[in-house]
Amino acid sequence: MARVSTDELGAAASAGSAGLTSDTAAERLRVDGPNLLPTTRPAPAWRKLAAELTHFFALMLWVAAALALVADMPQLTVAIVVVILVNGLFAFVQEERAEKASARLRDLLPATVTVRRSGELRTIDAADVVVGDVLVIAGGDRVPADGTLTVIHDLAVDESTLTGESEPIHKKPGESVWAGTYAIGGQGEAIAVATAADTRLAGIAALTAGVRRPRSPLAAELHRVVRAIAVLAAAVGGAFFGLSLLIGSPAHEGFVLALGVTVALVPEGLLPTVTLSLAMGAQRMSHRQALVRHLEAVENLGSTTVICTDKTGTLTQNRMTVTEAWTPAGTVTAVGEGYEPTGRVDGTDSALAAAGHLGQVAVAASQGGIVFQNGAWSAVGDPMEAALDAFARRTVGLTDPHRPLPGRRFAFDPQRRRESAITGSTLMLKGAPDSVLPLCTSPGAPVLAAAHRAVDDMAGRGLRVLAAATRDLPDAAGPVERVEQNLTLVGLFGIEDPPRPTVAAALEAARRAHIRVVMLTGDHPATAVAVAREIGLVGDESRTLVAEGDDLPEHDDALGELLDRDGVLVSRVSPEQKLAVARALQARGHVVAMTGDGVNDGPALREADIGVAMGRGGTDVAREAADLVLLDDDFSTIVAAVEQGRATYANIRRFLTYHLTSNVAELTPFVVWAMSGSRIPLAIGVLQVLCIDIVTDLLPALALGGEPPGKGVMDRRPERRHLLDRNLLARVFGVLGPVEAAAAMTAFLVVLWISGWRVGTDPPTGAALVTASGSAFTAIILGQIANAFACRSATRPVWQLGWRTNPLLLWAVTVETAILVMLLTIGPLAALLGQSPPSIAGWAIAAAGMPALLGADYMYKSLRGRQRPGP
Ligand code: ADP
Ligand code: MG
Repeated sequence: MARVSTDELGAAASAGSAGLTSDTAAERLRVDGPNLLPTTRPAPAWRKLAAELTHFFALMLWVAAALALVADMPQLTVAIVVVILVNGLFAFVQEERAEKASARLRDLLPATVTVRRSGELRTIDAADVVVGDVLVIAGGDRVPADGTLTVIHDLAVDESTLTGESEPIHKKPGESVWAGTYAIGGQGEAIAVATAADTRLAGIAALTAGVRRPRSPLAAELHRVVRAIAVLAAAVGGAFFGLSLLIGSPAHEGFVLALGVTVALVPEGLLPTVTLSLAMGAQRMSHRQALVRHLEAVENLGSTTVICTDKTGTLTQNRMTVTEAWTPAGTVTAVGEGYEPTGRVDGTDSALAAAGHLGQVAVAASQGGIVFQNGAWSAVGDPMEAALDAFARRTVGLTDPHRPLPGRRFAFDPQRRRESAITGSTLMLKGAPDSVLPLCTSPGAPVLAAAHRAVDDMAGRGLRVLAAATRDLPDAAGPVERVEQNLTLVGLFGIEDPPRPTVAAALEAARRAHIRVVMLTGDHPATAVAVAREIGLVGDESRTLVAEGDDLPEHDDALGELLDRDGVLVSRVSPEQKLAVARALQARGHVVAMTGDGVNDGPALREADIGVAMGRGGTDVAREAADLVLLDDDFSTIVAAVEQGRATYANIRRFLTYHLTSNVAELTPFVVWAMSGSRIPLAIGVLQVLCIDIVTDLLPALALGGEPPGKGVMDRRPERRHLLDRNLLARVFGVLGPVEAAAAMTAFLVVLWISGWRVGTDPPTGAALVTASGSAFTAIILGQIANAFACRSATRPVWQLGWRTNPLLLWAVTVETAILVMLLTIGPLAALLGQSPPSIAGWAIAAAGMPALLGADYMYKSLRGRQRPGP
């Protein structure tokens, strides 16, 4: 790899190095390769498969298989081993698909950095950084490579990713910065000395590659549920064994029963299906520009009740243009396209001259600006600063891209709401008017009063207003509060930032979905209100609340109560106040999504249930803290993600309902057998149960997991509930399960009755029993087919759902029917399962079970609908 020569370092250290030329950089990139962490080799497939075959349930089943062998029932052993293998393979494939989906998501997040090449600032892909590049690092950036610092303005770095130590470290020139750490304040320039696999981070990443993410709350809940069911199943199985011994049946028969009950009850296939559904949900979100950073965010998004959003960039386009400027010498108006430095500025000569000075002060106090890159002018850094730069060039024809390097710089922070730099012996400052005007002592009270009026006027028209001021300093020493005082006001900018065209519709959708939207902005209240009006966030005056950050109540209860209504808007809000807002809303039971872009937004993003960061604007620190990244920075993307989250959660409940229903039907024959003291024979055997669980139920469950978002998902209230809540359990154990079980038992008993057998007499003949058992089996499968359609909605009757919206389900059901016919008619298979095709009566009853199940489901749905009038 290329090494930085001492010469190069020396040259770079003479502040303001021009950096590499594009040719050198391209050559080094070709030789050294891209600046990417070497991907750690994933565990080999056989190891993962082995893991699937040896986890908790699998081990339980292995024990069962061994016991069956000891009890001299090799058939059962083989069957159980097949269950383990099929299940393991199924889980393996699902996990693999889920993992691939997550990996693809990671690649979507763009990582760009600012470097200086051939004397100009460039925004490049982090992967294109080469050794020798001059890295321009500002608060909020992720450091892309190991480097040696050359220029520093109060640079503070958070190295916790490497050291675990989260205290900010204040750097000095000559010290190192490390790839993967975050700048959290100030700025600096560093010359890259190591990239990719040579960085310190790469060494550490190799060490930690094996560490697994902790389980998500949803996965944890599911594990608990499934484990509880398994323990219950084993207990019931044990009880059956004891009971059968009491009744006096042979031990091995009792054992088969116990095993059957246990296996019937354990929903082995559920966990991987849930993971896959979440991954599919995440992937659908990414098609809509919403990138989730962990799968559980999909679940949380679905239950979001409040979205706290900032204004700039999320509700507005963040394409800023200075349209007017106020100076003591008069006002100028500007017209120009985007970030082109050409355009027209109108005003009197003296106003134009003053506006020219104003522009230069603002540019001197900026880091971002516009550059000519790839044949067009574009913004580097903060779009507002780019707009200021474009305005300055439009006004005075400023063409020189080299700005004088300031002696000292006080970076923007959201508490001060201003930024300044000392050039020579002059302080150049820009910032929010309410933070700058109070510090101005000249040019005299009447002019400052006029400035205040100008601020109100421009803000009232929805313009973002920025003030610029200067101060002559004999020396640049002292802390920022001492330096930024006794200012001379130079003028004001009125900056336009049009709302995003999609926002009004998204706000309407959020309202319909009963999700509150709160605007939290650092901007002036008048600007905030004007924008909020324009997009329809606030309308009806009486219900609108406009508060300023500093006026918010301290206490959580009071704060929560204040915010918990429609049309809330908080202006001049600080990051600490955002954190307090998230806490207060959560204390009232809300599920909070909160956007943030700055370094200081990290805590609020982490505290919120869904921290939302921007893919384009904003800082790397915010993205790191977020659960959801908006690739297009657009508010409406949050709403789209909520919709998909709701749909995914609904799907998981769909196949849970589906799967548990057949468990009830499978368990019933065993219960009936036991309750009757074995006078009623077993309707279905263990092998038939296994067949339903791992063969016929699988495809419809998967298809239900892929159900597209229903039309109604955004017309409902948000719901925060457990997966297995009372409604789901009531539907499964009170309606669907019993009907399916009744159909199976009726088919079984009627077929036996017709064959001449009566309860209490000698056991039925073999031929009668296998026909009856085949009828019961058929009834359960047909019941599950009807059930698959019933489960498509938890509220609407089957016949109101579109047939074409889930073609996968039609396929799944077709395949399921074909499998049923094969299991009944292929001699050896049927014999193994202990069944034969149903008699006519058997078919009739099994088929009648379908409308019975749908009818019962319909009655349940309409009863519930009446209880809880829908929105
Ligand atoms: P928003 O909620 O609109 O994103 P911010 O918190 O980013 O607001 O900014 C708050 C105020 O601080 C802005 O209205 C502006 O007046 C001022 N401001 C923002 N960025 C800068 C900057 N880079 N330099 C100086 N002042 C700034
Ligand atoms: Mg902002």
